Amino acid sequence: MKEFELIQRIFKDASMSNVNGRDDILLGIGDDCAQIKVPTGQTLVFSMDTLVEGRHFPYDADPASIGYRAIATCVSDLAAMGAKPAFFSLGLTLPNSDAQWLAAFSEGMAEIAEPLGLTLVGGDTTKGPLTITLQVHGYIEESLCSVRSGAKIGDDIYVTGCLGDASAAVPIVTGEMVVASDLFEYFHDRYWRPVPRVIGGMALKRVVTSMMDVSDGVAQDLQHILSASDVGAVIDARSIPVSDELQKWQPTNALAFALTGGDDYELCFTASPSMREEINLITQTLHLPCTNIGKIVETGFVVEGFSGDLNGWQHF
Ligand code: ADP
Ligand code: MG
Repeated sequence: MKEFELIQRIFKDASMSNVNGRDDILLGIGDDCAQIKVPTGQTLVFSMDTLVEGRHFPYDADPASIGYRAIATCVSDLAAMGAKPAFFSLGLTLPNSDAQWLAAFSEGMAEIAEPLGLTLVGGDTTKGPLTITLQVHGYIEESLCSVRSGAKIGDDIYVTGCLGDASAAVPIVTGEMVVASDLFEYFHDRYWRPVPRVIGGMALKRVVTSMMDVSDGVAQDLQHILSASDVGAVIDARSIPVSDELQKWQPTNALAFALTGGDDYELCFTASPSMREEINLITQTLHLPCTNIGKIVETGFVVEGFSGDLNGWQHF
């Protein structure tokens, strides 16, 4: 058996590739294509992300963590649309075929993919510098897709969770900075195990006017909503949610990390003030931390209470 046939076998036999009980997946791994039947009344949404070793995650990282984070970050895009995760494909470029590495990588992916109902249906494998391309697919009712272009003047602006931890964690996970073990564990997980807000996104899609996930810093990402919706915003930096751990570790820079750091994978959304009660109910029921950080206005973008640089993470 050739090197890459072996790799395909690992993924074909993985439990996350099992299509038993899935009426929507007519064909999974093993043929020339996968075949999908989109459930009646639903539409298909999909999104692709590429992660390159040394650019999007550190060299020589734990393969299970790489697999877990790759799924989490990509699924966050489905969460942002309010979609239900359904299946994914995997483009894998590997420097060599290390069976142990692959098994751990696959287990890390399965750990998060399986509980989300996200099944591996195909992919491609080639040789080269370690690069992971994931295409995730989800289902959503046509009229309920939460896009970026619906924000209205007067809407409230919200974010879920706490911001800034993952970007502040980078020097910790790369070993450039040493912190106490409890902080290490916290920031390690905040970088390697982001929590895509899938259930939150699915519940909120009915009440939001626009929604996206925060991957490049809320100050930068919110501006995508503003330009897509042709509106402006005023946010209050003092209301940006920051964890106690970030406050403790980076007291002077916590807010800068929270506003401009990347890799949070929280949701940012807008909603009419008439929805406040509904949003409280949804987020409390789901135990989803959620903070009102500002308002949609006619034009411009103002961050009150912050005087630093607002440029978020730039990939190139
Ligand atoms: P082809 O040459 O027809 O493109 P391949 O040999 O690349 O076929 O793939 C054979 C089967 O294995 C296909 O069903 C494909 O989707 C699957 N496959 C290949 N690589 C991966 C991977 N990294 N993850 C999941 N499935 C894969
Ligand atoms: Mg192929």
